Parts: sequence; C-alpha cells; structure tokens
Amino acid sequence: MSKMLRYLQDRREEIIATLRRVVEMESPSTDKEAVDRLAACLAREFAAVGGDVEVVRQERYGDHLRISWGQGEDQILVLCHMDTVWPVGEIERRPFRIEDGKAYGPGVFDMKGGLVQTLFALKALRELGRLPKHRVVVLCNSDEEIGSPSSRPLIEAEARRSKYVLVAEPAVPPDGALKTWRKGVGFFRLEIEGKSSHAGADPEKGVSAVEELAHQILYLHGLTDREKGSTVNVGVVAGGTRSNVVAARAEAEIDLRVMNEAEAQRLTEAILNLKPVLRGTTLRVTGGMNRPPMERVARNVALYERAVELSRELGLTLKEAGSGGGSDGNFTSALGIPTLDGVGAVGDGSHAIHEHVIVDTLVPRTALMARLMECL
Ligand SMILES: [Zn+2]
Repeated sequence: MSKMLRYLQDRREEIIATLRRVVEMESPSTDKEAVDRLAACLAREFAAVGGDVEVVRQERYGDHLRISWGQGEDQILVLCHMDTVWPVGEIERRPFRIEDGKAYGPGVFDMKGGLVQTLFALKALRELGRLPKHRVVVLCNSDEEIGSPSSRPLIEAEARRSKYVLVAEPAVPPDGALKTWRKGVGFFRLEIEGKSSHAGADPEKGVSAVEELAHQILYLHGLTDREKGSTVNVGVVAGGTRSNVVAARAEAEIDLRVMNEAEAQRLTEAILNLKPVLRGTTLRVTGGMNRPPMERVARNVALYERAVELSRELGLTLKEAGSGGGSDGNFTSALGIPTLDGVGAVGDGSHAIHEHVIVDTLVPRTALMARLMECL
C-alpha cells in the first residue's frame, strides 16, 4: 500500500468525523448567515493544514474563501462550493448517519464530501512532507447552486492563472466516474400578451395568450435535438385569470442544455427570436446562457488520462463520463484551461433525499486528489 493511502487510512475516523461536522453546519445558498458560519469553520480548518486563507466578503450571498497553499510560480486550482440546495432544518429530518457503509445527510454528496477530501488531501501532502513545486489555490464559493452570480469573476480570474483545474464536485454514480464534459445551461423567460374578452359573449374580440403559449411550448420542445445532445424544456407555465375570460397574459420558464458552443448560439438565437403564431399577441423573451458548455476537448481528456495513471497505484479503476448538469468547471473549461470535474465524493443522489457517500471510497479518493494536486 502506498504511503499516502496508509496515512489516510489511519485517519479514516477523523475524515468521517469532519464530514459529519461539515454536514451538520447547514448552508443553503440563500442563507448568508448559515453559509458564513460554515465558511468561518472551514477557514480555520484550511489554515490548520497550512493554507493562507483570504475571506472574500460578500454582501448578498455568503462569503467566499480563497485558500493559497504551498509555494511556487505555477498554480493549480481546486474548486469547491460550500452551499447546498437544502434549507436549514433539513438536518433534523435527515440527520447525518452511516448505514450499510453509506453516509447520509443533506449536502453530503453534493459537495461536502469533496470539500472534506480536499482538506485532507492538503493535510496528507503537508504531513508527509510532499510539498509540490507549485501553489494550490482552493476556492470555496457560496453560490454555486444558484449559478455562481457573485463568485464567477473570482473563479475565472484564478482559472486564468492556473495550469489546470480540479472540480471537487461529486463523481458520476454508481462507480465514481470523472467528468470530462458537461452541458452548457441556459435559462429564459417568455411573457405573452394577448387581449382579454368575455369567453361567452365576445370570444371573437379577444386573443388568447394561453392559446399562443400552447403553440410556443410545442415549438420550443420541437427544438430539442437528441442526436446533438441539445434539449429545450418548458418547465414552468402560468397564464389567464378565469375560465370564462379569454386570457390576456401567459408566461413560461425555459431551460436549455447544449453540448457545444455552436448549439448554444443556434438555440439562444432561436429562443430569443420567437415569433407569435396568433395575430394580436406580442412576445417578450429574456435570458440567455448561464454556464457555457464544458466541451469534451483534448486538454480535458488528457487530464483525465493522467488521473487514470495515478489511480492505478491506488487500486482504483476510473471511468470517464459527463453530465447534463452544469458546475463551475463549465466556466474554467470554456476559458481554455484543462478542467477535470467530478473528482470529489463517490456516492449517489445529488439534490435528492437518498443522497449519500460510500464511506469506503473516502480514503482512496482523497489519496487520488492528493496525487492530482502533487503532479503538475
Ligand atoms: Zn455541486
């Protein structure tokens, strides 16, 4: 067994206890106070393993942490997010628990497991005296689950200084595959104006915004191109006031997913230029791409292949995969920086109540992270 694995194996209980503590500090993206409490705790933890911690204060969202660790001209970047999709109080309904080798709790898989793995990877490198010849910068942001509105500039600035980026997001279930690509994500809002009238007395005097919306929904879903991996989903609709009134207003929220930049452009244009079908209605479309696609480019695949090499000495068999969901890796990959995503926890159930981490994977996957940080 490698020294790294033995070191971490000896600290297995400490890793689990830290994971428990971090999960119990709930941190929904929309609760600044709660996220700040977790950030303060993590700031102490990262400082204790030799990190130079800068708290990047935020007014609206939780504070971000920028941790610079080690010395050297070159830099690699590790992305973690502290926020979860779970409200405060979820921990009472679903307390942290281990059952059949699985650790459960809100945010344990997405992505508190990856956060704790990052912390212990740095600790292991330091205590084994294996300081790399480059800096490792860890960014812990507070608003990933809501599209990283306040942290995106910080992420992009650090990525531009980095040789490569590791994203400590959950691995792909069931066997912990790494992600070399992710779809880009767009969000749009459609508002339709028609003309109201009495549905019985004056139906011909009205123009139904709801009928127009029905046309638009079918058109939008028709834009989906499964071969290209592009999907358009109208996920939320609303409209009208009463059944006996021809509806004057209707609206919809639209989700767009694409594999590459060409599709992002083509479909963004199509959605922003929707044309009314019924005479007398007007359409207003707002929105655009939130995260650019993380394409499966050669530089990402090369980083994945390096991870496969490093994983062999740890007895891991890695697979390559991708995801229809976005992460902060989308931003860094789109800047042309080699990005490997899903290097965090192995488990299942992101954003779902069966969310869990496979406890036995914590040690080897932490070792893999350490090796990836070590080998520029
Ligand atoms: Zn996540």
